Amino acid sequence: MEDKRKDPGYRPKDERLRDYRAVERQLSYEEIHQQASRCMDCGTPFCHAYGCPVVNVVPEFNHFVYRGNWQQALNILLSANNFPEFTGRVCPAPCEAACVAGINGDPVTIRQIELAVIERGFESGYIHTGVPAVRYNERVAIIGSGPAGLAVADTLNRAGYRVTVYDDARYPGGILRYGIPDFKLEKWAVERRIKLMEEEGIVFETGVTVGDDISCRYLTRHFDAVCLACGAREPRDLIVPGRDLKGIYFAMDYLTQQNKRVSGEAVDSSEEITAKGKTVIVMGGGDTGSDCLGTALRQGAKKVYQFEILPKPPANRSESTPWPMWPVMLRQTHAHKEGGELLWSVMTKEFSGEKGILKKLLCAEVEWVAAEEGKLPVPVEKPGTDFEVEADMVLLTMGFVGPGKNRLIDEMGIELNSTGNVKADERHMTNIEGLFVAGDMTRGQSLVVRAIADGRKAAQGIMAYLNKGGR
Ligand SMILES: Cc1cc2nc3c(=O)[nH]c(=O)nc-3n(C[C@H](O)[C@H](O)[C@H](O)COP(=O)(O)OP(=O)(O)OC[C@H]3O[C@@H](n4cnc5c(N)ncnc54)[C@H](O)[C@@H]3O)c2cc1C
Ligand code: SF4
Repeated sequence: MEDKRKDPGYRPKDERLRDYRAVERQLSYEEIHQQASRCMDCGTPFCHAYGCPVVNVVPEFNHFVYRGNWQQALNILLSANNFPEFTGRVCPAPCEAACVAGINGDPVTIRQIELAVIERGFESGYIHTGVPAVRYNERVAIIGSGPAGLAVADTLNRAGYRVTVYDDARYPGGILRYGIPDFKLEKWAVERRIKLMEEEGIVFETGVTVGDDISCRYLTRHFDAVCLACGAREPRDLIVPGRDLKGIYFAMDYLTQQNKRVSGEAVDSSEEITAKGKTVIVMGGGDTGSDCLGTALRQGAKKVYQFEILPKPPANRSESTPWPMWPVMLRQTHAHKEGGELLWSVMTKEFSGEKGILKKLLCAEVEWVAAEEGKLPVPVEKPGTDFEVEADMVLLTMGFVGPGKNRLIDEMGIELNSTGNVKADERHMTNIEGLFVAGDMTRGQSLVVRAIADGRKAAQGIMAYLNKGGR
């Protein structure tokens, strides 16, 4: 009641635009202690039961931080979340949107407290290699080392199963490593966790594409259970005239290259994709679009526009999403404060170029109209609003449509659900006995915290299948 919410803020714009290091500052431990005192220990903590997908036990870890018992706070945090060092950095914090203090004031800084607890745990040596007391003979293969695959692996390994994780990339981490830019998540944090998991007994087989280099059928024969965690990386395309011009790229191709450069990893693609000196259009106003905007500005783009077909949301929580729901409202990321111009209600009708190279976009404004009462509104072009924009590069960040052409899906005859993702039962098992699925591959592109939550549930399903029950 006495202390106000304090956010750490970002490093100065001029400084952070010159590097790829994390932009967000951290509160001091004294400030975190004070912020934890704002938690009211509500009788019904919506942050925990409604907001947080991994059901983090928020009021309890806040309590122990306030009491100065960081080790106990850490134990409570780790009881629900395998990787708070990732969520503490990149989670949009639906817990805070559901915080009771936020009904008529500012919510508790839950994400910052979570990050402080785990980082203090590492600094104080509370986190060390924990080899399980029991080792079962059962072996589990996990395909994909994004947050979902890592959560399945970590949960099973700690319970005593023998785990091997396969990934087609050179290093583990999935989108944590190759999608999310370093200015949101520096890669030493991913490497530190992978090293710990290796020391605890998990085997990582990287540079292996299951379905090409090794068959999924082989894995199902040689392991007692297999879990798919290959993500949902098939990007939504923009099929308009001129789409085949040179200069139009998918966001993940662009971001992966830059993340590799920052890590000193060789960029294996035949074409270097960079925004340096170019006018760039980021197509899509979401978080991936913001990651592209921040990257393009750091690469030295001449000008960056971000086009979004949806209308501009309200400045504050809309009435359609009352507390404790995740609010529909305008969000300004750090990248939006760094530069670029964001245009709402814009559709692109055509790309045009010269000698096969992109030169400009033909666009128009839209309004969203419901054809019939009760039907969802659709974008309708506003007559007379055509405009052209000159551009050298377009980055398509309009979301993802599912796991795409993954040869192992065809090889195994895996059933998909109505959204084009892999179908699973309540145990996270696919239509194939002993073959499980977790993360974006079954729920569609989502959040790191949801991938972790999903991985934990899939691990419980696998343990039940292997007759050892859950923990
Ligand atoms: C650019 C970008 C930024 C994002 N930023 C955020 C953010 O700030 N906060 C947030 O909460 N969420 C964010 N997300 C969403 C979040 O990263 C994903 O929801 C999450 O990573 C999904 O985890 P996953 O383990 O299911 O899949 P992924 O992270 O996609 O991992 C799948 C892994 O499987 C591997 N794989 C695929 N097929 C095979 C195969 N056949 N053989 C071997 N390996 C295979 C892939 O190489 C990959 O390593 C972002 C997403 C993107 C694209
Ligand atoms: S994981 Fe995300 S939703 Fe859960 S407590 Fe942390 S910041 Fe909040």
